[in-house]
Amino acid sequence: MDEKTKVQIEIDVSKHPLHVDHPSCSKGHSLRCENVKINDYASIKVKAKYKENSGFIYIDPIYGSFDNIIEGMYVPDGEVIELFCPECNENLTAVDDTCQVCLSPMFLFHLPSQGIVEGCLKKGCMFHKLKIVDAEEQVARLFEERMLL
Ligand SMILES: [Zn+2]
Ligand SMILES: [Zn+2]
Repeated sequence: MDEKTKVQIEIDVSKHPLHVDHPSCSKGHSLRCENVKINDYASIKVKAKYKENSGFIYIDPIYGSFDNIIEGMYVPDGEVIELFCPECNENLTAVDDTCQVCLSPMFLFHLPSQGIVEGCLKKGCMFHKLKIVDAEEQVARLFEERMLL
């Protein structure tokens, strides 16, 4: 590999990951977890419930990446879990949205400046959706970006 090729590869990698930095519940409690890093970024820590079992899940903050860590319980692939804010126990299930791939419920995290991130609650489904609302527009425009992996 010559110098030129190497440089191009480095640029590609650095501009690619889009990660969720400051997710919160609807009351503004931060879900950011500095203690557990996934792919070098602070993970998103939430309470998780599967049937009668509960534990924690550290969600991969990189959009479209799914190296999640489940702690304290076992969830088989294909099962749907529920997520809660660790601070106020708010159910983080999106009220009026379902996964476009498998029709399961989705979780919803709030972002600064009114954006939201949603993701499928079925383990192994890997569907993510990002909506960023630009508050500076007179009529709020909705940007929607979808990723299927
Ligand atoms: Zn909360
Ligand atoms: Zn799904």
